[in-house]
Amino acid sequence: MFKRLISKLKKSPAVSDGQVQIISRNDHNISRDNISENALKVLYRLKKSGFEAYLVGGGVRDLLLDLNPKDFDVATNASPEQVNKLFRNSRLIGRRFRLVHVVYGRDVIEVATLRGHHDNAQGKQQSKTSDSGMLLRDNVYGTIDEDAVRRDFTINALYYDIKDFSVRSYAGGIQDIKRRNIRLIGDPETRYREDPVRMLRAVRFAAKLDFKIAAKTAEPINELAHLMSDVPAARLFDEVLKLFMAGYAQRTFELLEQYGLFGQLFPHSQQCIEENDFYRRLVMQALANSDERVAQGKTLTPAFLVSVFLWPCVLESQKTFEKQGMPPAAAYHQATSQVLSNQQTHTAIPRRFTDVVRNIWDMQRRLERRVKKHLESILTHPKFRAAYDFLLLREQAGEQLAGAGKWWTQYQRDNAHLVQQAKQQYQDRERIRERKPRSDRRPRRRNDSTN
Ligand code: ATP
Ligand code: MG
Repeated sequence: MFKRLISKLKKSPAVSDGQVQIISRNDHNISRDNISENALKVLYRLKKSGFEAYLVGGGVRDLLLDLNPKDFDVATNASPEQVNKLFRNSRLIGRRFRLVHVVYGRDVIEVATLRGHHDNAQGKQQSKTSDSGMLLRDNVYGTIDEDAVRRDFTINALYYDIKDFSVRSYAGGIQDIKRRNIRLIGDPETRYREDPVRMLRAVRFAAKLDFKIAAKTAEPINELAHLMSDVPAARLFDEVLKLFMAGYAQRTFELLEQYGLFGQLFPHSQQCIEENDFYRRLVMQALANSDERVAQGKTLTPAFLVSVFLWPCVLESQKTFEKQGMPPAAAYHQATSQVLSNQQTHTAIPRRFTDVVRNIWDMQRRLERRVKKHLESILTHPKFRAAYDFLLLREQAGEQLAGAGKWWTQYQRDNAHLVQQAKQQYQDRERIRERKPRSDRRPRRRNDSTN
């Protein structure tokens, strides 16, 4: 059905940015069966209270493509305060981009009020832009037509209307889905200046959906990549997770490099990778392994990825300190501290991850040495598995470690009871940790550019 609609649309003339196409419920493939129960609850409650309510953005895009949406976002003409009052299980978040999270256990439905034109702003409380054109505040409310042109890409300017189950497609979004095209709404340079993270989003969607970035959308990226340095480091770390943890990390990395964006996120790593092929192999192998893990439904730890990206920097810095006359162990410690603290200025890595990164690195030498009296404590270390995977990765990338990987594989087999015991202890600890609320978990936000 969707295919028929699409072939009809494909022949239609180009659609301007503000123009809407309404696709009735019989002409698209979105069924309520594929929308999460919680998202539907939110949509219906808003509708019943007399508000407009739409499923919006990536959720609609992915459903049209027959993919499983990662999350569901809702747009409404109710103000954040009104939404907050309607749902007891909700909280207002974000100052720069105010919105509401409706919380159902682990599932969070993000509800945003339709945004309007900034010419309609009443003072800095609602709208604020930096000298370089970056949007520091985006709280001017408006109509759905106005909201659509404030979205990033045409393929995200899609709204599923709970009133009549139609899809509203703006700026030719539905045609771009068919053409597998990532296209920014409006003037690309202005839109990147408003929010440089959109450059990362272009790459992310291209990798995730296997779409092409339209020429005019791609063109300014290399030149504007440096604007990323204006984005707060905490927001960039959130983006790094989205880029590399979703199962298409390898392709994402290639595109990031091609557009000069990886060097904005991990400048020192980029330099090392360019100078030494072993480092490139290490990173590519890690990303391939990660993607495979996701495909198999296994979990990934962000710390592992960070430890890979920064390992080349540690080795290079260690060499530099040793040349200055420092003993190897001291040079290594100095290098790890320096590398981690330098990286914090680009992507703020939360402490709970840097601790694990250090563990993974520190264990490498112990794994290589295999000192007899330490073997059991290494094997039962909570981060043994990650450190062992890292060791295997180094060997896969071509490092000669005197068969240490194979040796540890065998040692685990021979001591399966210890491995099992450690695993149990780990699971018990995790269960306790899960019960505790995490104060350092950052909510997902849009345009959250100056937190
Ligand atoms: P996914 O959830 O698969 O990562 P998504 O498109 O849903 O992709 P979200 O970050 O969940 O991305 O954002 C939801 C919607 O909000 C987007 O589809 C887009 O319409 C809008 N949006 C998000 N970030 C921006 C931004 N930086 N600029 C403009 N619009 C944005
Ligand atoms: Mg989403």
